[in-house]
Amino acid sequence: MSTKRVYFFGNGTAEGQAGMKLLLGGKGANLAEMNLIGVPVPPGFTITTEVCKEYYSLGKEEVIKLITPEVEEAIAKVEDLMKSKFGDVENPLLVSVRSGAPASMPGMMDTILNLGLNDEVVEGLARKTGNERFAWDSYRRFVQMYGDVVLGMKPVNKEDIDPFEAIIEEMKEARGVELDTDLTVEDLKLLVAKFKEAVKAQTGHDFPASAYEQLWGAVCAVFSSWMNERAILYRQMENIPEEWGTAVNVQAMVFGNMGETSATGVCFSRDAATGENLFNGEYLINAQGEDVVAGIRTPREITKIGSQRWADRAGISEEERVATMPSLEEAMPEIYKELDALQTKLEDHYRDMQDMEFTVQEGKLWMLQTRNGKRTGLAMVKIAMDLLKEGYIDEKTALMKIEPNKLDELLHPVFDKAALASAKRITRGLPASPGAATGKIVFFADDAAKLHNEGGHRVILVRNETSPEDLAGMQVAEGILTARGGMTSHAAVVARGMGKCCVSGAGALKIDYKARTLTVDGNVYNEGDFISLNGTTGEVYEGMVDTKAAELDPDFEALMALADKYAKLTVRANADTGHDAQIARSFGAQGIGLCRTEHMFFEGDKIKAMRRMILAENAEGRREALSRILPYQKDDFKSIFREMNGLPVTVRLLDPPLHEFVPHDLKGQQEMAEDMGISMEQIQHRIESLSEQNPMLGHRGCRLGNTYPEITEMQTRAIISAALELKKEGVTAVPEIMVPLTGILYEFKEQESVIRATAEKVFEEMGDRIDFTVGTMIEVPRAALTANRIASSAEFFSFGTNDLTQMTFGYSRDDIASFLPVYLEKKILKVDPFQVLDQNGVGQLVKMATEKGRAERPNLKCGICGEHGGEPSSVKFCHRTGLNYVSCSPFRVPIARLAAAQAVIEEQA
Ligand code: PEP
Ligand code: MG
Repeated sequence: MSTKRVYFFGNGTAEGQAGMKLLLGGKGANLAEMNLIGVPVPPGFTITTEVCKEYYSLGKEEVIKLITPEVEEAIAKVEDLMKSKFGDVENPLLVSVRSGAPASMPGMMDTILNLGLNDEVVEGLARKTGNERFAWDSYRRFVQMYGDVVLGMKPVNKEDIDPFEAIIEEMKEARGVELDTDLTVEDLKLLVAKFKEAVKAQTGHDFPASAYEQLWGAVCAVFSSWMNERAILYRQMENIPEEWGTAVNVQAMVFGNMGETSATGVCFSRDAATGENLFNGEYLINAQGEDVVAGIRTPREITKIGSQRWADRAGISEEERVATMPSLEEAMPEIYKELDALQTKLEDHYRDMQDMEFTVQEGKLWMLQTRNGKRTGLAMVKIAMDLLKEGYIDEKTALMKIEPNKLDELLHPVFDKAALASAKRITRGLPASPGAATGKIVFFADDAAKLHNEGGHRVILVRNETSPEDLAGMQVAEGILTARGGMTSHAAVVARGMGKCCVSGAGALKIDYKARTLTVDGNVYNEGDFISLNGTTGEVYEGMVDTKAAELDPDFEALMALADKYAKLTVRANADTGHDAQIARSFGAQGIGLCRTEHMFFEGDKIKAMRRMILAENAEGRREALSRILPYQKDDFKSIFREMNGLPVTVRLLDPPLHEFVPHDLKGQQEMAEDMGISMEQIQHRIESLSEQNPMLGHRGCRLGNTYPEITEMQTRAIISAALELKKEGVTAVPEIMVPLTGILYEFKEQESVIRATAEKVFEEMGDRIDFTVGTMIEVPRAALTANRIASSAEFFSFGTNDLTQMTFGYSRDDIASFLPVYLEKKILKVDPFQVLDQNGVGQLVKMATEKGRAERPNLKCGICGEHGGEPSSVKFCHRTGLNYVSCSPFRVPIARLAAAQAVIEEQA
């Protein structure tokens, strides 16, 4: 059977359907589906993503040859339905050509509208519609889009002005008018002529007049745009595989710019920022689709309630609102009713919040697109829980609807109320994407990226409007502020996708890109000045405003409870202080999986005692210094055990090389010399003797405890006595004492005997006992390889995948940045293995060690405490490998809880 490359849809029939996203792209699959469920969609066809692959392997000419027969056949069907002909002078069919990848990539690739026009066809269109202005306006837009996108005339340099825009500006100046709409039909005709001259001058070729030649150019341009810079960047950000390719959708044009009974808009079945179950969106009368998202004209609200909220925020009276910015509900009530019914139908059908595009052509409503809408983390949780409550979806579907990493946004800080009360508000825009952000004003995306990447500065990107070229700057910015554009502008949509704070359409801002200033009500702010944004209210403040931790709402709590119902893995936290333990518990941690005791030595007086210990000449001196540290350690453990009352706390014995604790500056060395009553030479000599060529592979971990057992003794004493003292207060401590960096069974056994002997001593001294276990980190490959031997003594394993990754790959944890970017770019590595667990390599060691360990000790408790413990794909791997728990930083606990639940649901499916 020959390969099918083109899928037709129209008039209630379609060759594709919603399940064919990989082949037809998201847009194409949904256009087919909408037809099948009786939504009015202009007829057209989809050229598959497979053809995109053929485009890259066979080249343009071959691909056109391959698809011509099927495209001609599909065009004929569209012609029949639209009762017009492609390229015909008297009764022309015009089409749009759009990209549509399997995953949504808003604004990432180029679109061509009004294709099929030429000097004769435009006259025919004018006669057919009786609207000469509309025909010529469509033609000049087409030549401009086609010139920019297909013929490559769009300037590469952001400072350069689009050649077509320059011609329009020149013309407006010559005519003394401000708006494009003020130009006459004769002006538009002249514009087209000038545009075509510019095309000839720049490309050396005439603008193509043949409809099919135009079509092939546009189709191939869409395929080419799959590999443009912004598409590549977006794919990297969103982890979209390059192999997928994009489909191309060719569809009969319908026009929102045919006069006052025509309109175009974008709408959402629920609020994409907050998740509120409220139909909302924006539209423009007498406009083409791109006008709404481009942010050039400020669009109006679709619903009356949305319009009223907008007016309240902008401080506009009801009369003024109705007169100047009426909602679609008020301006076109019949169309609104139909649209409202369609949005309900589409949400019912897809059982998720829909993001839809529509056009009204002379009083007839057409749906151009629907897709599951992008949303903030906040909205993601609310919509999933609401859909569950409303009975649209079941619990498992609700859990699977949330991207675990998106929860991060909910845990982010908001403005501190007191700080906000005294902050100076300078203006207000639209609350495009929630959150709080403070940073330095920057006007250009590349400057933002530079300031952030090189200087570590927090920046707010301030623009009249953003475009896909600004992506890299938006990505690094704390927040985005635009003077123009609505809730569906590029800035708003992209910021929401990124979970980034954004205020759009703050019309009072006057931006001078040349002078690099921002003026509001006569006050001038320079590049580099601080401003603060509240993306939840749309307010903009002068200077820095303090932030505080977010408050979690009931939907979030309900989601977490649901996740726990399904999850098999328990989630613990890595925490070294009572304060962190408290946060961890508030996020639902069921214990501490890693308490790094070395962090307790760095503060205040403790560091001095620690240094005395390290610089001591002999065991006696070390014991004396350690006895000074003991009370501090005990207190630290008590505060953690107290927070975790009844839950297990894995305390790891001292791990890092000792030289990390000694003073490297002269002042510090002097201080220690005086404190200890020894000479500077002695101090410096000792410091020198501690220095190592390769400290990460040197005297650290249990090698310290084995050479200086008094450290292990002191730490054990602190842990056990803390637990016993708390027992008297009625607090249950469940300590798990963990030996770091074990590679050889006997390394562990030595430490274990010191721990058990010390514990017995403390039990005797205090006249009471508690239960505790002794286990080990598995973070040296040899430990994984000999896990059965180690499990003969160790009561639990905790995989330290930071070190295990370091030692398995042989990549230094501290130096990978020097080559990682090149490795990622060359695709030698897909991701940073220190962030995402390498399941094929490091993961196999985890799996093997778990199996070997349990073969020796069937009830061996296994967990992970490297950074990977809070990364969703790694958490899912841990579930499949049969670990008992994952442990991660407190703020990632909710992410891990959700990922653990999803792992179970995915397994069942
Ligand atoms: C590890 O190596 O994975 C680990 C958790 O320990 P640390 O990061 O402290 O070396
Ligand atoms: Mg480690």
